[in-house]
Amino acid sequence: MIKFNKPYLTGREGVFIQEAIENNRLSGNGPFTAKCQNFFEQRYGFKKTLLTQSCTSALEMAALLMECGPEDEIIIPSYTFVSTANAFALRGSKLVFADSNPYNPNIDAEKIEPLITSKTKAIVIVHYAGISCDMGKIMELAKAYNLFVIEDAAQGVDSFYRERPLGSIGHLAAFSFHETKNIISGEGGMLAINDEKFVKRAEILWEKGTNRSAFFRGEVDKYNWIDVGSSFLPSELTAAFLWAQLQELDEIQSMRKVIWNFYFESLLPLTQKGKLILPVLPEFASNNAHLFYVVTKSHEQYLALVAHLKANEIQAVFHYLSLHKSPYIVNKYGVQPELPMSDFFGSNLLRLPLYPSLTHNQQQKIVRSVLSFF
Ligand SMILES: *Cc1c(COP(=O)(O)O)cnc(C)c1O
Repeated sequence: MIKFNKPYLTGREGVFIQEAIENNRLSGNGPFTAKCQNFFEQRYGFKKTLLTQSCTSALEMAALLMECGPEDEIIIPSYTFVSTANAFALRGSKLVFADSNPYNPNIDAEKIEPLITSKTKAIVIVHYAGISCDMGKIMELAKAYNLFVIEDAAQGVDSFYRERPLGSIGHLAAFSFHETKNIISGEGGMLAINDEKFVKRAEILWEKGTNRSAFFRGEVDKYNWIDVGSSFLPSELTAAFLWAQLQELDEIQSMRKVIWNFYFESLLPLTQKGKLILPVLPEFASNNAHLFYVVTKSHEQYLALVAHLKANEIQAVFHYLSLHKSPYIVNKYGVQPELPMSDFFGSNLLRLPLYPSLTHNQQQKIVRSVLSFF
């Protein structure tokens, strides 16, 4: 069976974890955390970054920083992972779901404006497959209506909107280093803060509501309880693992892009014959080869293709089911307005295996198998 995902290891993760052990500094906010944060701030120009336990916890920090409450509405794509929505549901905010583009699963920027009310606080967007949303249009809307923009850049590491890195455009952004992402640390994530006014409070929320970071820097002589917060920071063992991955970021990205391009070029004839839909990158978006998907014409065809690949010992998997039709949302708010494109991608989008250790033979087998189905 060709597995859907295999975590990529650089081989130096253990070396840096050993170093963290020898440093005698295992809890969070130590030297490896600082190295990783500096790497991201310098390479991508994020104003401030904080490593977190996960992208989920970075999104939860974003909701706390914006002081989201039950009186607020948050516009969010329906086609996303639950964590994007859950962070705001935890604060009691009302979720207002937006549809996907006709051409790809990202939020349709043309559909956002009619959802804005006097209660809207933020637009949360997801760069699906590491392909940028229409940030020009989204930031323009946010400015016109005085809204925050949160980028769920879980899949967006080292990808760009025009020349701007994903995660550097919204007020806040959340990244994931879960083992299924391009750069990994088992579980792990990062909050990127681009709006200066959030920086100070973010550090306090991150350290359980205390000013311990300022204490470590020698700015205060004792730390105290300042605000709400939680234990959002990862241990140095996690940061040491991540540091090994960051050393090979360029190599990892190019290995993934080679596979992505092979799939795309090999399957393009199916698109030209109108049999299958391939990923569409708008002119403003770069590709970080986070995942490769195909979209079938119908759910029946999708099921048959999955079964065909399985019979050929290839594990291909679906992605998100529309959140606006999830049991949690329907129980809480009742039946929601139809979002046909989100449902369409939920029924028909299939992800193929993509990881650096996928051999060329395996890639050829997968392509042959898809071609033979049609
Ligand atoms: C993976 C993912 C998350 C969750 O990331 P964790 O680090 O596992 O919390 C959130 N949003 C999107 C779009 C994701 O792909």
